[in-house]
Parts: sequence; structure tokens; C-alpha cells
Amino acid sequence: MRRQLPAEGRILVSACLAGRACAYDGSARPDETILRLVADGRAVLVCPEEEGGLTTPRPAAEVQADGRVLTMDGRDVSEEYRTGAEIAVDRARQNGCAAAVLKARSPACGCGAVYDGTFTHTLTDRDGITAAALKRAGVEIFTDEDVF
Ligand code: SF4
Repeated sequence: MRRQLPAEGRILVSACLAGRACAYDGSARPDETILRLVADGRAVLVCPEEEGGLTTPRPAAEVQADGRVLTMDGRDVSEEYRTGAEIAVDRARQNGCAAAVLKARSPACGCGAVYDGTFTHTLTDRDGITAAALKRAGVEIFTDEDVF
């Protein structure tokens, strides 16, 4: 279901949606709605994976059923994901962001659907680590696929 963003106020956004080349494969995922927020001075950018200490490009990672985040080659990057989530929550608080638009299906930013940890392109109905932390902090979450 597509939902309308709040008409006013600053919005936390996944930095890749604002055109920063910070996705795991070194690309950006620019999104028209987010670029408008940037142009209006309402976007507050965060990339929890980079800011949590991971490099770009980096191996693909998925949230496991036990809550850990593992890369495709077996490295446990849960700590980096937790750090990135804390940074995102702090940034939302410091900038008065009551809402966030996050990249769908990312192990950090995905909301309501992420890959299930088996690296088989299978989705499950969990949140990414940052989306979950922002929800706990009371931030309303949108994804790039349900916002206009
Ligand atoms: S962590 Fe979020 S902002 Fe960073 S590349 Fe992944 S989806 Fe984009």
C-alpha cells in the first residue's frame, strides 16, 4: 500500500536513495521522491552499513533467523550493523525526524521484508537491523517502494 509522507519536517533517508554510491556493490539507488526531499532541504542522510564501519564495496550480507548478520562468505558483521543502527537512531533524534524512508529489503534498512539469511533470494517478514531500531525509537518507517 502506498502512503504519503508527512508534508513537513525533516525525514531520515537511506543515503543510497539520495544518490550516494554506498550500496554493497558500490552503486547508488537514486529515487525521485527522495531526491525531491534532498532538493527541499528535508532529507537527513544515513548509511548504517558504511557508518557502522563496513567498507564499500562489501560482500552481501543477510539477517539470520537468530538475529545475527552474516556475510555471504561467513563473516559475522552483527556489531557493525548494531553500531550503524545506533547512529541512525541518534541522527533521527538530533534532527527531529519523526519519519524515515529506507531502502526496501536491505539487511540494515529493509522494513517488513528482508532476505532470510540463506542467500537464495528468499524473503521473510523480518525488519532490517536499523529499521527495527528506528521503529523501537518511535520513528514511522516508509520504504522507497511504498512512499509517494
Ligand atoms: S545500509 Fe541502507 S543506506 Fe546504506 S547502502 Fe544499504 S540500504 Fe542503502
